[in-house]
Amino acid sequence: MRRVTILGATGSIGQNTLDLIRRTPEAYQVVALTGGQNIAQLAQDACEFGAELAVTADRARLSDLRAALDGSGIAAAAGPEALIEAAARPADWVMSAIVGVAGLAPGLAALGQGATLALANKESLVTAGPLMLATAAKHDATILPVDSEHSAIFQALVGEDRGAVERVVITASGGAFRDRPLSDLAHVTVAEASTHPNWDMGQRITIDSASMFNKALEVIEAKEFFCLTPDQIEVLVHPQSTIHALVGFVDGALMAHVGPPDMRHAIGYALNWPARRALPVERLDLAALGRLDFHHPDPARYPALALARQVMEAGGHSGAVFNAAKERALDHFIAGRIGFAAMSDLVARCLEEVGGVSGQGCDTITLESVGRWDHLTRHHIDRIVSA
Ligand code: NDP
Ligand code: MG
Repeated sequence: MRRVTILGATGSIGQNTLDLIRRTPEAYQVVALTGGQNIAQLAQDACEFGAELAVTADRARLSDLRAALDGSGIAAAAGPEALIEAAARPADWVMSAIVGVAGLAPGLAALGQGATLALANKESLVTAGPLMLATAAKHDATILPVDSEHSAIFQALVGEDRGAVERVVITASGGAFRDRPLSDLAHVTVAEASTHPNWDMGQRITIDSASMFNKALEVIEAKEFFCLTPDQIEVLVHPQSTIHALVGFVDGALMAHVGPPDMRHAIGYALNWPARRALPVERLDLAALGRLDFHHPDPARYPALALARQVMEAGGHSGAVFNAAKERALDHFIAGRIGFAAMSDLVARCLEEVGGVSGQGCDTITLESVGRWDHLTRHHIDRIVSA
């Protein structure tokens, strides 16, 4: 029996992970499940899977969680420290699927106990890539990518000489506003931005797909995880979302990962790694699909991609500034305080004004230092928005 913990169990990735575990429950012992506001789902899953511990991120919801678990014998806890304790409980495999930089500390705690970390939380590598990799190395822990593009690259690299990699190509659907006139983007609504042409995901990553901030995070994530240089990473718009990524080698070969847009593939690959096991995903009918299209992203439509290049060139804490600015700008967009197109303007301003792109913030990355830059940036955005 493998001992597994799921951080962010009530979210889109967390629920897909539980869907796979539910199919062979005898193979897994669930140690801890964590959630945020969705107490009913958290308690229901903790009971169904016989978890030892259920944790909500929100201290104010602890009594609700206790009430929902009453009589089950499952321990309940709440707050950021409790999330870290849940991640540090001995487990073989931990899914990191909290949304945002809040996932960083629990992910580090899971690596600290030597668990295999299935990493969906891309913000961890964006804000603290060197710290994540060093922590994994120190504790002999393994990080497996769950983001579909990174899982695709990882799979294309199996058995290959990393030194023979020339480039990687990460595909992007183009998001909700791929075909909208540019002049409309200042006025699109939160509801419109919360739809995705191909993938069914949490609201925040769906809006980030429309703005391509999601792709921007993924480019930085790929640089960190696969130790690439910025010019080795290319982004192409591929409306069908069928090829998730390609790896180009020095001999001119391109290895593509092809599959349906279903996160249970990448999650299942990380769950079964290094084996491949049957998964309940659709089998592609390529003849029915007929064609696959690719084109370069329009820089005017997707300014987030150029900002990601700035971050990769600057290094240091610019990833923490970029991510915090993106998260806070997104909060303001969802709350209706700023328009869709203003998000990238705000993030660009933060990179200039808070620092991280001009030699500042290049000191060693620690959990505390990421927290400091994150706090500074959010404060800066709030000041601009309320001015
Ligand atoms: P969701 O919004 O669906 O779920 C997020 C999870 O995190 C929920 O369990 C939520 O709890 C919990 N949560 C929210 N805020 C906090 C907090 N401050 N502290 C602790 N827990 C919190 O997100 P997704 O599942 O879509 O995404 C999760 C991560 O995986 C993100 O980093 C995303 O970028 C990445 N990812 C997602 C993909 C997808 O297909 N969804 C694909 C590739 C990567 P609750 O809902 O109970 O409030
Ligand atoms: Mg992705």
